[in-house]
Amino acid sequence: MSAGTEEQKRHFIPKLISREFSFALGFTEPSGGADLASLRCSAVRDGDYYVINGQKMYTSTAHSSTHIYLMARTDKSAPKHEGISIFLIPMDTPGITVRPLWTIQNNPKAPPGTTYGHARTNETFYDDVRVHKSCLLGEENKGWRVGSMGLNLDRVGASRYLISVRRDEDIVNWVKGNSIEGYSPGKDPAIRDKIAELWIEAQVCRLMTMRSMSIVEHGGNFTYEGSAEKVWAPEHGVRTTEAITQMLGPYAQLLNGSARAIRKGLFAHNVMGSFQSGINHGSVQVMRDQVARRGLGLPSARSSRSAKKGGA
Ligand SMILES: Cc1cc2nc3c(=O)[nH]c(=O)nc-3n(C[C@H](O)[C@H](O)[C@H](O)COP(=O)(O)OP(=O)(O)OC[C@H]3O[C@@H](n4cnc5c(N)ncnc54)[C@H](O)[C@@H]3O)c2cc1C
Repeated sequence: MSAGTEEQKRHFIPKLISREFSFALGFTEPSGGADLASLRCSAVRDGDYYVINGQKMYTSTAHSSTHIYLMARTDKSAPKHEGISIFLIPMDTPGITVRPLWTIQNNPKAPPGTTYGHARTNETFYDDVRVHKSCLLGEENKGWRVGSMGLNLDRVGASRYLISVRRDEDIVNWVKGNSIEGYSPGKDPAIRDKIAELWIEAQVCRLMTMRSMSIVEHGGNFTYEGSAEKVWAPEHGVRTTEAITQMLGPYAQLLNGSARAIRKGLFAHNVMGSFQSGINHGSVQVMRDQVARRGLGLPSARSSRSAKKGGA
């Protein structure tokens, strides 16, 4: 909406809303996702076309999406944050290969209702993929700004709050109506305290989401707020899912397919999946660094290391 041409907006936005189109995100490469600006996938101009070559990792939903939102290097001689461009490419373009990368959620399969984690992500390969210049999003070599803006927005949103609420409601409903071999967790004061604590944490997710959405709605820019939310919500997810399996005892740690698993292993699968959200869309370690630098104005770790070296 903010970087596309009028033609791109007319072509994509209505069909994205109606779900006829969907995008996979082609950012991460085998050499590392945290240092995204070091990407190597290249797009070389050839008349009205670009020719793309390279490999992407963890391209989730590439097997089911109609398009890829691909970040590629268009100027190898420029500093690493420059010379990057974004392309909107149909997945059926010749030269694109998608190979599955199965995750811990795949075997055994996570049951319906699991709130966390992809069962499958992908590796994608680009071999002489020719795309028309109209696939370029924004200006050539200015893709870093467009991509960062998208990533910042991607890190906030109601979905994490909704996931927390759904999971917290799940456990409240479960402990209200169930007992395990005569023990009723819903009546245990320690468990009631813990559930209340987790619920309060979920409300923090809600407030952070509301703050970010309000900034966006009022036309403001946020710098660290999305990163702060991207630390709090995934770590809350890990704390909650782990606490739930501890509350419910060893049977809650059994996976789908096990005869004594509670709710087909849903709680155990939620624990395993919750770790994914601390990595994807930017790892919590990198997000903490952004909060320190952009939110609190602390020097970057690299500059404080070299200052120390100089001082010594
Ligand atoms: C399930 C899943 C789905 C994903 N889906 C997509 C997708 O659809 N599209 C896409 O493009 N990518 C996707 N990713 C990739 C994800 O964004 C990257 O995994 C993430 O950015 C980390 O990159 P990396 O795995 O290469 O780790 P690396 O970059 O190699 O980092 C390794 C470790 O070092 C830490 N680290 C690195 N640099 C710093 C630093 N400066 N300060 C502190 N710690 C640091 C990281 O936190 C991490 O723990 C997905 C990942 C997962 C797990």
